[in-house]
Parts: sequence; structure tokens; C-alpha cells
Amino acid sequence: MNRIAVFPGSFDPFTIGHESIVTRALPLFDKVYIAIGYNITKKGYFPLESRIEWIKKVFEDEPKISVDHFTGLTVDYCKMKNSRFILRGLRTSSDFEYERAIGQLNKSLDYSVETIFMLTRPEHTFITSTMVRDLIINGGNVSKYVPEKLKDVKFLP
Ligand code: ADP
Repeated sequence: MNRIAVFPGSFDPFTIGHESIVTRALPLFDKVYIAIGYNITKKGYFPLESRIEWIKKVFEDEPKISVDHFTGLTVDYCKMKNSRFILRGLRTSSDFEYERAIGQLNKSLDYSVETIFMLTRPEHTFITSTMVRDLIINGGNVSKYVPEKLKDVKFLP
């Protein structure tokens, strides 16, 4: 049976921390959908099309990865993609509390879907999309915090 995972997130923008989670999870799965959850209340800072384009560029040579977006419930998106696994990254204890609530909610919505957590690499613990976004907005250099393939990208809102 094919092992299909969904890695949902805002990815606003995609960071080296996200890249590391996906790369490390890849041997576990036959297919990974990196899916941007998008709705009226969670529009984000960077345009959806740009976020998708940037992630596609990062994984352009990886046929097991597809980049997508969805509205509505993550478990419904999983069902649509025939996926029984939600992949999430854990950095800190506050991530854990937040992820525990979402993971348990998703479990109660759909018992067949398992959330798989991967611990961040220690050197990525402090990296957040919010921090990278603030650096970009204020003219800082973000090349250390975004994937290698994005280091020359112009991050325009
Ligand atoms: P969301 O808005 O759904 O939290 P994010 O784009 O902020 O979306 O994060 C998506 C996933 O990536 C979450 O599971 C988050 O914990 C994880 N993540 C974010 N930053 C890092 C990082 N630096 N290292 C590992 N995982 C991370």
C-alpha cells in the first residue's frame, strides 16, 4: 500500500526548518503533499501563488513531493488525497501543546488519520516563518534561514 503523507502549513514563507522536516520524512513515505491551508481568516502575508512557486522550486528534483493548497479541514484534504498521515514538526513545548490540541481534534474528526511528529534539528528550533517574514519586511538578509534554492529569490508580498 502506498504511504501518502500530507504536510499542512501556512509556509509564509517556507523556511529551512520546514525543508528539513520534509527531507527527513521522505524515506518514510511514497508521496508527500506539501499543502498550504488557505482561507479568508488565514490569508497570510505572501501571495498563495508565490508560496507555492517557492516550495516547488525547492523540491523541483523530488518526484515524491507535490505542492498544493486547500481550504477547509485538513482531514478532508487527507481523505481527498487518500492520505492517512499528517506530518508536523515540533520545535518547543509550546509547539507541542498547540500540536497536541490540533492532533487530538483531527483524531476525533477522523480516527483513521494519524499525525506523525518530527522533532526539529536543534539548530532550526528558533526559526519561524514569522521571524523570516519580519526580517524580509525590515530589509534583513534571510539567506541562512531559507532553503538553498531560495537564497536569491525576491520575497515580494
Ligand atoms: P501553521 O500555521 O499550520 O503552524 P507553519 O507554516 O507555521 O504552519 O508550520 C507548519 C509546520 O512546520 C508545523 O508543524 C510547524 O511546527 C513546523 N515548523 C515550523 N517551523 C519549523 C522549524 N523551524 N523546524 C521544524 N518544524 C517547523
